[in-house]
Amino acid sequence: LDTGTLRIIDDEREHVASNYSPLPVVIARGEGSWVTDVEGKRYLDLLSAYSALNFGHGHPEILAAAREQLDRLTLTSRAYHNDRLGPFAAALAELCGKELVLPMNTGAEAVETGIKVARAWGYRVKGIPADAATVVVADGNFHGRTTTIVGFSDDPAARDDFGPFAAGFVRVPFGDAAAIEAAIDENTAAVLIEPIQGEAGIIVPPDGYLRAVREICTANNVLLIADEIQSGLGRVGTTFACDREGVVPDVYLLGKALGGGILPLSAVVADRDVLGVIRPGEHGSTFGGNPLAAAVGLRVVEMLSSGEFQTRATALGEHLQARLADLVGSGVTAVRAAGLWAGIDIDPAVGTGREVAERLLARGVLVKDTHGQTIRIAPPLVIRATELDWAVEQLKYVLDAS
Ligand code: PLP
Repeated sequence: LDTGTLRIIDDEREHVASNYSPLPVVIARGEGSWVTDVEGKRYLDLLSAYSALNFGHGHPEILAAAREQLDRLTLTSRAYHNDRLGPFAAALAELCGKELVLPMNTGAEAVETGIKVARAWGYRVKGIPADAATVVVADGNFHGRTTTIVGFSDDPAARDDFGPFAAGFVRVPFGDAAAIEAAIDENTAAVLIEPIQGEAGIIVPPDGYLRAVREICTANNVLLIADEIQSGLGRVGTTFACDREGVVPDVYLLGKALGGGILPLSAVVADRDVLGVIRPGEHGSTFGGNPLAAAVGLRVVEMLSSGEFQTRATALGEHLQARLADLVGSGVTAVRAAGLWAGIDIDPAVGTGREVAERLLARGVLVKDTHGQTIRIAPPLVIRATELDWAVEQLKYVLDAS
């Protein structure tokens, strides 16, 4: 490593808490699917900031929307109206086929908001006795890092030493609709799931799972909350991962790519009979619904409305999946994928996921390991097939050389 790079990393370590362990590269510029480090070396970005860069780095249309808004108005707080929030909310609601949007900033905030909405709906509409509402969640879930959310995680690294935790969550195996049905009782307000689990390693549930969960929720007067923060907005070849089974949840949780890779923007989207339970003063965020984020979010929704990115993700996803399938048995033990999103399990004989990520870094490809042996691939949806081919060649080289 260049001494300049090492110095920057050392300086960062002096003053930045160690809540991540980044790969040793210092990125200085990004364009489309490529980034350049401080030494001028280029890398193909196959992580897209955990799917927040679905449109790539510096997409000209998104940058233009941000620049135009930067010069006009950036923040009002919700103490006043601004002229960007309404158009953004209308467009997003239409994209989701819903009536109302509650804007927040980060994914975790959208999840927290979804939980509050579900509980309020449970008490005010369903008639659950005070403080008795429960939410059913899945093993292996990842919904963010706040104390309530990590309290219903089963990942020791996420929860250990961060309790005591909020009550009211019941966890069942992921992919097992009967387990959800068994966990539901008269006090269940909602089922909260990722339609495809991202952080867990791109875990695609069995066919029919989402449809069955939808039916169970409807039959039991329980809200289905889909956390589409990582899986949604084109990643899997459809606007939402729920679309793959023709399922419409009661509540969509969106984030990451909604902010166009420029700023944090998340949202809870639902019909008025659900999201309408929230009254003035009960929930909010200083930056939630700010005009800069709304202008960016509106452009993102407009870009998704054409279906162009979803189509790309489908075609490129098939292309990528065919090439990755060839690696199974040659340093790879399994591949799970949906659209342009894949979890690749590395044969321990070859090394850990982290080691493979570091070897790929040396060859100009950025990926990230998750849960030890898995590497996750979530390229920008603007990537080219030839670039994917090149990246898979680098992976093959790394696997063969180990
Ligand atoms: N939900 C899902 C499915 C996620 O993948 C993530 C982040 O990885 C979150 C929620 C949390 O989002 P944020 O990091 O913006 O709080």
